[in-house]
Parts: sequence; structure tokens; C-alpha cells
Amino acid sequence: MRLLARSGGLGPLCAAARAVLPRLWRGKYFSSGREPAENQVTPMLRHLIYKIKATGPITVAEYMKEVLTNPAKGYYVYRDMLGEKGDFITSPEISQIFGELLGIWFISEWMATGKNAAFQLVELGPGRGTLTGDILRVFSQLGSVLKNCDISIHLVEVSEKLSEIQALTLTEEKIPLERSAGSPVCMRGVTKAGIPISWYRDLQDVPKGYSFYLAHEFFDVLPVHKFQKTPQGWREVLIDIDPQVSDKLRFVLAPGVTPAEVFIQRDEMRDHVEVCPEAGVIIQELSQRIALTGGAALIADYGHEGTKTDTFRGFCGHKLHDVLTAPGTADLTADVDFSYLRRMAGGQVASLGPIKQQMFLKNMGIDVRLKVLLDKSDEPARQQLLQGYDMIMNPQKMGERFNFFALLPHQRLHGRSHPMDACQSKPSVSPVAGFGELTWR
Ligand code: SAH
Repeated sequence: MRLLARSGGLGPLCAAARAVLPRLWRGKYFSSGREPAENQVTPMLRHLIYKIKATGPITVAEYMKEVLTNPAKGYYVYRDMLGEKGDFITSPEISQIFGELLGIWFISEWMATGKNAAFQLVELGPGRGTLTGDILRVFSQLGSVLKNCDISIHLVEVSEKLSEIQALTLTEEKIPLERSAGSPVCMRGVTKAGIPISWYRDLQDVPKGYSFYLAHEFFDVLPVHKFQKTPQGWREVLIDIDPQVSDKLRFVLAPGVTPAEVFIQRDEMRDHVEVCPEAGVIIQELSQRIALTGGAALIADYGHEGTKTDTFRGFCGHKLHDVLTAPGTADLTADVDFSYLRRMAGGQVASLGPIKQQMFLKNMGIDVRLKVLLDKSDEPARQQLLQGYDMIMNPQKMGERFNFFALLPHQRLHGRSHPMDACQSKPSVSPVAGFGELTWR
């Protein structure tokens, strides 16, 4: 199906209504347990206590996985945790400009790599679908550029509840969704602009083909193992039942070596580290796909370059929450180690960044876009636009805490994919937008 074949119009050029500004975003703090929290015996706590009684203390990674994505009781599985009434808020929920500029980024990469006849836009962990919605609005607005391109949307989402919300945000109500519980493609439909859209639980199930991958605040929810350096060597931090209080959990150190220790670098200088093997597996999958079929991956998150130590923390109702208290009622997160992501790409693809969100969005032309929207808007939309801009750009807020990181085929940076001009001895390579200034060719 061709893009825009059934698109009703250009979509709103003016400001779209957005959430009331947050009191807290997840990237702000990086230690846990300072807030008093209720001592609630949740179904998840009961489940974990049975599990620990049966098999012994569990790793922090297993704890995170159970608490966040257990199919029966996981935090992400059956609730909408985003927004003012939820536990945290993210950039796309704060400002429409964020998603619009990412839409421009994908189009700019598509153009720079030869305007492939088709591409898949694949989002990992799409939340409410707001980001993809904003990107699709830009695709519609630039319909004349994309008119001969076959686009399809692929969402990788573990949560049934959020998948339903994404479908409401993105699809045409009149065309019923096709649902197949047992199949790798859980749901299929058509977006409001007539583009095919499919849902998956796992990246592996997304068709391999020329794709642009997007992961915003996704890698930080993947399970981490935590290790502490001791005089006997690295020891993994585990979670056990507190012997003093039967329905309370506590951290303990493993008495001996545990398998995940292989993920620690030999020359590691820190005395406490967090490693995320699942992030490594996903990066390897993305890298293989991009090396094979082209495209790019854009990853945005809070994180560091292999320098931070204890970043595991919880959020509930826009407040820090003790990670071991009332599990299943709060979000759990850890900063992304971008140096590890780069290592896992393993030279199969080139990587760019991490670059601060403020710089990336500036390079993408956020100031011009803001001005256009302000000129077209009345109060109170203008105030909302300005406050949203401040929240995502201010270095004291999200501007410096969040980073952009990209995976690209080597040819993209060295020019081998471009047809050579007969008069040129070297192929021309346009800079990658966001990591340098946006230029249209
Ligand atoms: N990208 C969105 C939402 C971020 S919250 C935004 O920025 O607003 C994290 C998202 O990842 C949620 O949609 C959550 O349900 C999803 N998620 C968490 N773990 C996942 C996993 N293992 N596989 C797929 N999706 C997952």
C-alpha cells in the first residue's frame, strides 16, 4: 500500500494538545530508596516470596523482569503508567515537536541513503503510541516527498494494555483490528493515513527488511544484573527475603561466582557495575539487520559511557520509590550504558553518539519548528509549547540528561552506497542529521 493513498489531509500544523507538564521525569535521579514508601504486600511481592522460597535468592535482572513484564502481574502489562496521572512522563508526551523532529530524521536518512522504494518504521516500547503518531503526521505533511514509498509500521510491545492504547491513538476506528493471540503478530490494522501497522511481542518476529528502528526510553527498562567488587572478586547482588520481616525483601551478595560475571570487562575500574545482557542481544539483532538490509536505528535514553555505578531506581506517582517495596506498583529503571551498546554493535555497523538531547534537537532545527508553531497558535497553546520546549531542551531538565545514539550501515558514513558521480573521484556523503546540522539534499 502506498503512503497517503487514503490520507485525509495534512494533519494539524498547529500545536496539538499535550499533557500537563510533569513534576518528575525518570532520568532525573539515579539512586533509589530515599523516599518513604508504603509497606504493601502486593500480589507481585507474594509471587516473588514463593519463588525465592522455592529456588533461593534471585538476581536483580530476574527481579526486574518479573516485576515489569510478568505476563500475569507485571507492572507494564496491564496499566497505563505514562502521563500526569501515571508514574512518569516522557519527551513525546511533553512536546509534539520531539516526535516531529524524529520524523524528519528518518526522512532525512531515507533520502541520504538513496530513497529506497519501501521502508518499515519499527518502534520498540512505543508507550501510548504518541511518538509514532507525531512521526506519522510529519510523513503525511511531507507526503509529496514520500509519495512513491511503501511504508509499514511495526510496534514491539510487551504490554497488552499499552498495545490497545497505541491502537486507539494510531489506527482508523472504522477498520477493525485483526487479533491473533498465539501468533507472533499479535495484532494488525491500518493507521489513520492508511498505512499497514502490526504489533509484536519480540523484535525477532518483525520481518527483516529495510527498516528504521526507534527506541525511546526502552533500553532503560531492560533487566540489569548488579555486581559489587569485594576482596574475593566480583559478587552479584541478589534479592532475598529479609529474615527479620517475612514479607520484606532485601539485597544480599552471592556467596560465589555467578554466570553473568562474564559481562564485566576485565579492566573494569569501578567497584559496582550494572550489566544488561538483554540490551546486548537487542543491539546485536539490530546491528545484524542493519548491516544486512540497510536502514538505521535511533536510540534515545538517559545513560552514561560505562562510568556510573548504582543507577537502579523506582518511580511511582512521579516520585522516587524504593525498588524493593510494593513491587509491581512502581516502574523500575537503570541508566543505559552506551559504551556497552557500542561494544555489542561489534563493528557490524557504525555508531554515532551518544549526543545530548539538547544538541541533537538543536541540530534538527527545533527552534525553527517552535517559531512556526508559535506563530500559528493562540494562548494557552503558546504557553504549553514554550513550557514543553523548556522541559525537553533545558540542560537542567531533560536537555542534558537524555542522549541520542544511532546505528548506521558503515557505507552511510563512508559513502560506498551512493552512486558515484562520473566527474567525482570520491562519493559524496551528507552528514547524519542531529549528530550534525540538518541539511536537505
Ligand atoms: N517509548 C515510550 C514509552 C517508554 S516506557 C515513550 O517514550 O513515551 C517503556 C515502554 O517499553 C512501554 O511501552 C513498555 O510497555 C515497553 N516495554 C517494556 N519492556 C519491554 C519488553 N521487554 N519488550 C517490549 N516492550 C517493552
